[in-house]
Amino acid sequence: MNTLRRQLLTTPRRQFTTSSLIKQQQTNEEITHFGFEDVRKAEKQGKVDEVFASVAPKYDLMNDVMSAGVHRLWKDHFISTLNPTSTTKLLDSAGGTGDIAFRYKNYAKHAEVTVCDINPNMLEVGKQRAEQLNLHDLQWVCSSAEDLPFENNSFNAYTISFGIRNCTNIDKVLSEAYRVLSPGGRFLCLEFSHVESAPVKTLYDWYSFNVLPVMGEVIAQDWKSYQYLAESIRKFPTQRHFKTMIEEVGFKAVTYENLTFGVCAIHSGFKV
Ligand code: SAM
Repeated sequence: MNTLRRQLLTTPRRQFTTSSLIKQQQTNEEITHFGFEDVRKAEKQGKVDEVFASVAPKYDLMNDVMSAGVHRLWKDHFISTLNPTSTTKLLDSAGGTGDIAFRYKNYAKHAEVTVCDINPNMLEVGKQRAEQLNLHDLQWVCSSAEDLPFENNSFNAYTISFGIRNCTNIDKVLSEAYRVLSPGGRFLCLEFSHVESAPVKTLYDWYSFNVLPVMGEVIAQDWKSYQYLAESIRKFPTQRHFKTMIEEVGFKAVTYENLTFGVCAIHSGFKV
């Protein structure tokens, strides 16, 4: 007891403050979110992988049902924004079951396309779809967008569609995108975003939290994954904040375009 008193009296006050601040900061750095749940950063990817392993077989059907087919229009617009040519070498990161890659090949038949995703179940569905579409020249790579297995300056276009929201370290995904793009290359991201109009937001929130998980349960026997979907959208940075994050890794001429009142946004940037 005496020793403790002596330590308390002799230890400078600043030292307590600094060390507790460091401890607090370390705790903050290790914690992230999985939907509305706080989780350790090291745990998040595993939870995301479980979601996509579970939804993979019904992923494409669910997209059509949940969005009444509108996701197809968003993706078509995304590809026309990219405006690919036959010399474009594309990396579609978090490419899942191949929706972006297939659209891209429709536009530019001879372009080189690599689909990269961390989840083998999603990629497997994508490969089967590619077979059915007679698209045999796509590359399928299983890897995290946070640590890409490609050389610097390997691609002149990088797309990520509804994927970056699920990644633990968005800044790492962005700096990897920057690294693998060659100078002049374009970064294009399609992601759920934030609705500003109050009446539309009320309706959209009601739909997201009351209808989506029910559809998930009825069609894919998976309430939790579709609840995560609704929650993860709310945790993603706003359009402006995300634009700043893209600029912070070095991209130039960064712009964004809202789709359907901001339900989604397309962010674009260039490596110069
Ligand atoms: N891009 C496809 C599309 O637009 O339909 C799939 C989007 S799906 C909602 C999200 C994808 O992100 C999943 O296939 C998932 O496996 C992938 N993903 C999650 N974390 C990832 C990571 N760290 N690196 C690469 N892909 C990841």
